[in-house]
Amino acid sequence: MQKQLIQWYQQNKRDFPWRKDQDPYHIWISEIMLQQTTTETVIPYYERFLENFSTIEELASASLEEVYKMWEGLGYYRRAKHLHESAQIIVEKYQGKFPYEYNDILSLKGIGEYTAGAISSIAYGKQVPAVDGNVLRIISRYYLLKENIAETKVQKKIYQIVQELILNQDASAFNQGMMDLGATICKPVHPLCSRCPIQKECLAFKNKQTDVLPINIKKIKKQEISYITGIITYQDKYLLIQNPPGGLLENFYGFVQYDVESPYSFVSSFQEKYHQDLIIQAHIKDIKHVFSHRTWFMHVYHFVLEHEIEGMYTLEEIEALPLSTAHLKVLKAYLKFM
Ligand code: SF4
Repeated sequence: MQKQLIQWYQQNKRDFPWRKDQDPYHIWISEIMLQQTTTETVIPYYERFLENFSTIEELASASLEEVYKMWEGLGYYRRAKHLHESAQIIVEKYQGKFPYEYNDILSLKGIGEYTAGAISSIAYGKQVPAVDGNVLRIISRYYLLKENIAETKVQKKIYQIVQELILNQDASAFNQGMMDLGATICKPVHPLCSRCPIQKECLAFKNKQTDVLPINIKKIKKQEISYITGIITYQDKYLLIQNPPGGLLENFYGFVQYDVESPYSFVSSFQEKYHQDLIIQAHIKDIKHVFSHRTWFMHVYHFVLEHEIEGMYTLEEIEALPLSTAHLKVLKAYLKFM
């Protein structure tokens, strides 16, 4: 897959001003600007910033107000403050030359593992992974990793996988290829697999799990409950259950939801209770619903039954039933997705 991805990147790479050279200062500025901002927004800011501060020394000797002025409208101003402080460190400690060693880069303000990896590989050609959300998603799909990518141990595992993939490869093209693939093809929702250069060996594609993976369920605080919420269908009917009297939202109807870790565990819990198999179709959306005393995080998935069972209703019939607001949001998200 490395070779296919690299070849695809070389033929299809997106044209950005920060891709015109490999100057570590330029790569650094672009990576910091791109941390919370889209590429289209960043382009004019990037150009203007470098016109005003064309070297690290110029950035270091500017006042913080001048740097903020160039940042106006980009948001997350801490990024600008960190750039300014780091430029001063580079002038003092590295004679104004951007550091070469990975650990020195990582020690600069506002630079984490991803950014250090991106700069090291793109500017210096070092074989260092740059694992961001795009890479976590692509690797999880490609290898059919059904573990939760929000967990550190899973992120570490993916980091190691990438480390092996880039061994003796053009890490710069690989890392940038992953960025482009994640942004244009292996997108979070409805990936464009028919145009994907690594589709042939992609296990999520083979197993029809591209709309299900990755599993990305963040840890939550007390008073907050995380559910896998199932839109379970058979043909044009939806399974609804009625809440028992005495509890939260009593007598209201809603979709089946379990306090479990992933849609795969949902299938097991459902099977235990209903003795029916479910096929996982797609991850629809993550929905937060706040009640006065608790918050639900609903990770909504679509599942399909092999037979009709008791408690299934058409959309017309559902309109006549009292559905809780939370589950009305779930239904709306599903109808929009489809
Ligand atoms: S085949 Fe589809 S899911 Fe697999 S890596 Fe390509 S775009 Fe992503």
